[in-house]
Amino acid sequence: EQEKRKYVKGKKLGEGTYANVYLGHARHDAGVLVAIKKIKVQKEYKDGLAPDAVRELKHLQELLGHPNIISLLSVFSSKDQNLNLVLEYLPLGDLEMLIRDVDRVRYGTADIKAWMGMLTRAVWFCHDNFVLHRDIKPNNLLIAANGEVKLADFGLARSFADPGTRMTANVITRWYRPPELLFGARHYSGAVDIWSVGLVFAELVLRAPFLPGNTEVDQINLICRQIGTPTEDNWPGVTQLKEYTVPSEVVPVWGKDAYMSRFGGAGSDGVDLLVRTLALDPKNRITAREMLEHRWWRTDPRPTRNEDLPRKS
Ligand code: ADP
Repeated sequence: EQEKRKYVKGKKLGEGTYANVYLGHARHDAGVLVAIKKIKVQKEYKDGLAPDAVRELKHLQELLGHPNIISLLSVFSSKDQNLNLVLEYLPLGDLEMLIRDVDRVRYGTADIKAWMGMLTRAVWFCHDNFVLHRDIKPNNLLIAANGEVKLADFGLARSFADPGTRMTANVITRWYRPPELLFGARHYSGAVDIWSVGLVFAELVLRAPFLPGNTEVDQINLICRQIGTPTEDNWPGVTQLKEYTVPSEVVPVWGKDAYMSRFGGAGSDGVDLLVRTLALDPKNRITAREMLEHRWWRTDPRPTRNEDLPRKS
């Protein structure tokens, strides 16, 4: 209750798939801007869930303090038992807006390297703290006034939202979903986030989604065609996953040369890193820590400084 009184809610900034977002400011200082995200909690959950959710998110709030992860300043449940997240206000949009604005926003390899570096450090920090994000995509990478990219929208909050609205959220997220989840794996690891990181990397280079599946089946087909067919040879145990199905015509896993023709803009080292993020078998996928040790970051061109990064116009 005290938490709620610390902030004043202002105009609506936007409506997401499972939340309304408002501009707000600190009661003691109108200069401290925040975004208040009011999650649409499902009716059946309202009695017990919000307090639990608040407790769990408080934990996340304490855990995460990193320049590339959005700050969760406070959590409270309103009288209608909805969950409210008070987040730092990030005014410069998100990476998706920059990727899509091909006519007005120009960027190159040095910029991609800077953005990917910030994303990788964010993911490394989450995984180092045993937190999985589970919903990494360009639209969840918000941009701060100083150019810093911040990972936002932790899947945890989403799991408290209305399942009816979650279905639509899934439509957007499918393109970044790794094969182990598409095959119904129940035990998964940080490797799920790394796959999504790889697809963000690919999309930054292509300026279009790399694997835009229309359905889950289509998503699996695209993975098979563009990356290779998961089989017992390249992924021991995959055929045992409960929803394993692949097209009968087996496509061998593409090597680095095949990626060079489409992603050569990232350079040979960049393509090497990309290929490692897109390993079909999650056990073979590069980890966030290993990504940070990759030579791509140290070879030319050097990552662009934050203040020189392209911005939305
Ligand atoms: P989505 O369903 O697209 O993920 P969200 O619920 O996260 O949407 O957010 C809805 C809108 O609110 C976004 O389009 C964005 O413009 C705005 N928004 C969300 N978080 C912030 C923030 N921390 N700072 C500024 N604007 C935000």
